[in-house]
Amino acid sequence: MKIETLAIHAGNHGDANTGAVVSPITLSTTFERDSEGNLVDGRDIYTRASNPNRRALEQKLAALEDGSEAIAFASGQAATLSVFHALGKDSHVLLPDDIYYNTKVIIDSLYQNFGITCTAVDMTIPKNIEEAIQTNTKLIWIETPSNPSLKISDIATIVQLAKKYSILVACDNTWATPYFTKPFHLGVDLVMHSTTKYFGGHSDILGGCIIFPINKSETLYQSIRTFQSVGGAVPSPFDCWLLNRSLATFAIRMPIHAQNALKLAKFLENHPEIEKVNYPGLSSNEFHGVAQKQMVGGFGGMMSILVKGGEKEALALASKLKLFKHATSLGGVESLIEHRYSVEGVHSASPQNLLRISVGIEHIEDLIADFEQAFQ
Ligand code: PLP
Repeated sequence: MKIETLAIHAGNHGDANTGAVVSPITLSTTFERDSEGNLVDGRDIYTRASNPNRRALEQKLAALEDGSEAIAFASGQAATLSVFHALGKDSHVLLPDDIYYNTKVIIDSLYQNFGITCTAVDMTIPKNIEEAIQTNTKLIWIETPSNPSLKISDIATIVQLAKKYSILVACDNTWATPYFTKPFHLGVDLVMHSTTKYFGGHSDILGGCIIFPINKSETLYQSIRTFQSVGGAVPSPFDCWLLNRSLATFAIRMPIHAQNALKLAKFLENHPEIEKVNYPGLSSNEFHGVAQKQMVGGFGGMMSILVKGGEKEALALASKLKLFKHATSLGGVESLIEHRYSVEGVHSASPQNLLRISVGIEHIEDLIADFEQAFQ
């Protein structure tokens, strides 16, 4: 089935008892056994371990990525944590040098005492990855497009390299989403999402997930499933239900995000107050070729711009926009703009004149008009 159909039907079982087309929310934390105290076939036991709404959501998430199983978490960070945890102590991880800031913070702060270390490399140059591999390297973590510079790493080439050294490859597919990139078709072992972003799509649900391919590693799967059900960083039944509902329009929202982003990128690229637009859909972009190879149907809704001048000019532009809300996060129906350097702090590698833009699904003429009035 196509992604538009899966987004609506996968995991949506309705309710056989009432005939409801939409599944009800099961808030109960506990489930009754039979009169002899035995578990009833097909019934859950306790909601931390499993719940009908979470199961339905996990089925949908797995289907969207053409995977076999998904494990839902209370946030993207909890999902990422489960992967690093599964590697075991004294492991080494390769991360992109341009990455969601807090992914690296997990290793540098939370896993410091477990001896887990990481090296950040520019993954757009595969030679860098090979040179950074150590004897204890267990995982290559890809994030493409990268955050906030929209660099594109060649997933298939990295997978080939990783196989040579028997290293796992995980892909944070939050920005590209399976609408534009299917990492399992390129051979990765795990896909991670902050479902807070495009999957949720309305800036009102926090969540994350890990998804496994058809030929998954059973040991890795069990380790992450145990981390979820015993560790307990699980989404509530209501959040699962709401995310499942939001996903029904996922495949309708994504092409609009991408069409708007391309039009806005072309407008900004030609503006005298803009130094550079980072958007892989532009034919002038240095990563356009590799993006065309692995992104299908568009290049996503994220971009960043370098404003002529410095931090002051960038912040002034952000403050003059009216439709683009000056706020962190991304992937919602509404357009957002943010100065990454201020958000990440003095250790940020983000250029001080960079603004990251999450292009929403408003009418593109209104979005461009908003920039036109801000430039005046
Ligand atoms: N990965 C990416 C690419 C992100 O942008 C984010 C959040 O901004 C995360 C992971 C973390 O997700 P969450 O905020 O849901 O914990």
